[in-house]
Amino acid sequence: MPIDQVLKLVGGLDLDSKSINTWKMGVERALKKYLPNGTKASGQKCPNCGQETLIYQEGCLICTSCGTSKCG
Ligand SMILES: [Zn+2]
Repeated sequence: MPIDQVLKLVGGLDLDSKSINTWKMGVERALKKYLPNGTKASGQKCPNCGQETLIYQEGCLICTSCGTSKCG
């Protein structure tokens, strides 16, 4: 399974437990480090412009359309 798909799966988990959510964020952060720069975040939309033009850059999500970046 590609890392970005795992990330999508983990990110899509709807969990109530605070400790599980902390785990989830840790997993997401750790996985993002293994993504090569420029990996497309398929299926994820930019929160700013709504385009599916997000890529991973050094663990951050960057929108190639409007320049929005989201880290962590
Ligand atoms: Zn954007």
